[in-house]
Amino acid sequence: MARILTGIQASGKPHLGNILGAILPAVQLSQDPKNESFLFIADLHSMTTVKDADALKENTLAVAAAWLACGFDTEKNYFYRQSRLAGYHTELMWYLNCLTPFPMLANAHSFKDKSDKLSDVNAGLFTYPVLQAADIVLYQANFVPVGKDQKQHLEMSKDIAAAFNRTYGEAFVLPEPKIDENVMTIPGIDGQKMSKSYGNYIDIFLPEKQLYKVIKKIVTDTTPLEEPKDPDTCNVFALYKLMASEAQVAEMRQNYEGGNYGYGHAKKALLDLILEKFAKERELYNYYMENTQELEAKLKAGEAKAELIAKATMQKVRELLGFID
Ligand code: ATP
Ligand code: MG
Repeated sequence: MARILTGIQASGKPHLGNILGAILPAVQLSQDPKNESFLFIADLHSMTTVKDADALKENTLAVAAAWLACGFDTEKNYFYRQSRLAGYHTELMWYLNCLTPFPMLANAHSFKDKSDKLSDVNAGLFTYPVLQAADIVLYQANFVPVGKDQKQHLEMSKDIAAAFNRTYGEAFVLPEPKIDENVMTIPGIDGQKMSKSYGNYIDIFLPEKQLYKVIKKIVTDTTPLEEPKDPDTCNVFALYKLMASEAQVAEMRQNYEGGNYGYGHAKKALLDLILEKFAKERELYNYYMENTQELEAKLKAGEAKAELIAKATMQKVRELLGFID
């Protein structure tokens, strides 16, 4: 039995990058009877950027609804909000903080990406990888499926956990990242990595009209309609390719290279593909967002289950630290 753990921030609405890069691969892993999956909403992490309680709550429900819409089985697995088990996560984070070297954190992507303006960096952002390490080892996870952007953070989690085991005795399973090499870093509408915090994302659960509006904003070059275009440098094609069948990709490539095919056509094809691919998910997502009491009930049940594991780990940790006999 392997324990698989992954978290997703509530820093915005779940988007195509999260879904293709994290949610769908994690749901697939969770369906293997040999695995036990821990999927949580990292609402404490989101506090580094979201300072509005109502927005955080709304995002948290949206992220939870996205997991359920993508087929996550909450009976078999563990499904919880980090904030509802905050006592365990943050206590462990403190212990791990005291074993984490400053240069390691100064080198973390989460900090470096935002460090050009240090006055905007809060301590929560700086110590983000330590809370992440606590999130993982608290549940003794064996594997953490993530996108490539998280590889470095995962290496840090492992190093921090190993430092604890070396210093105080074996408390933690050392987690391994599980990076699906086929899943690329999904580009956003501006061609940069799609991220909630960059505001460049495609929320596939939007009503059709709004979704189309976002897709229309995908940045393209100014090649005129009648001229051939290079699909391999186009953001629309890059996104289309991630979800389309081989035949559909070949057809769109031909259209691009043939001329008389505009970016507007490609964008409409992308919209249709998303609506078709995610029809079931969109319906379920709306159902849960209209019935949030059902979401709440599933989360509460998951939190009670997860707490048993967190409690057992912290008992062991406190013993090793000499805080209890
Ligand atoms: P933020 O901007 O707040 O960091 P995010 O959009 O990057 O948000 P996270 O909550 O940090 O999303 O990441 C959740 C999961 O989704 C992680 O496993 C991450 O690797 C994956 N992920 C995020 N963005 C992408 C992307 N563009 N392509 C593939 N996977 C992604
Ligand atoms: Mg991120």
